[in-house]
Amino acid sequence: MSRPRIGVSGVVRVVEGAPRTGVNAAYAHSITQAGGLPLILSPVIADDIVVDALDPIHGLLLTGGEDVHPMLYGQSPLPKLGQVDRERDAFEIDLFRGALDRRIPVLAICRGIQLVNVALGGSLWQDLPTERQGALRHDQRDGRTTRSHSVAIMAPSRLARALGVIRLEVNSFHHQAIRDLGRGLMITARAEDGLIEAVESAPEAPWLVAVQWHPEEFHGEAGAPDHGLFAEFVREAGRFRAQCA
Ligand code: MN
Repeated sequence: MSRPRIGVSGVVRVVEGAPRTGVNAAYAHSITQAGGLPLILSPVIADDIVVDALDPIHGLLLTGGEDVHPMLYGQSPLPKLGQVDRERDAFEIDLFRGALDRRIPVLAICRGIQLVNVALGGSLWQDLPTERQGALRHDQRDGRTTRSHSVAIMAPSRLARALGVIRLEVNSFHHQAIRDLGRGLMITARAEDGLIEAVESAPEAPWLVAVQWHPEEFHGEAGAPDHGLFAEFVREAGRFRAQCA
């Protein structure tokens, strides 16, 4: 049986003077380890062919990166808003809506959970340290694979089933997070300061799991519960493919 194909939303970055497009290697490692085939979907593709990008894939991974533009949730930018990319916003919202229409399984990470929430009518904290009293440090200074705060995971949930735990130490690289919850989403994890760290679709809806931390960074950590999230996502992509056959 060939591997389920996972579309991974990409970024454009200038490196050594040239604009380049791709994804952090950790996403590709995690998908590959879980038995999937990662395919990079670049935001440089034209608007009218974004839906074509969904034809070859059985799962969609929405990745980390820039802040979502606050106009997409009815707010004006605050002083501490970070870098934004309106083209990437539009590209990923189109991808996500197309995936929902086709019932393609979706895993969303960091910016991804924020993008999904905004696409479903929710809003964000633009900058946790200045807007939210009593917040923990969610923009850790430690390395990518260091775990810096814990999350409590609600069970039963798709997330708890995939991870096999109800408490997890996570790495945390975000200064934004979900404020008002988008339509149809269920909260499945919170940090100790009450911040929403994971959401998912209702049990009867197509598979959608979104987390605020970076599980892909643990691809090299033996026995990491985070591996279960990618394993379950790739299994769901395989089930989606079987239904379409
Ligand atoms: Mn966090």
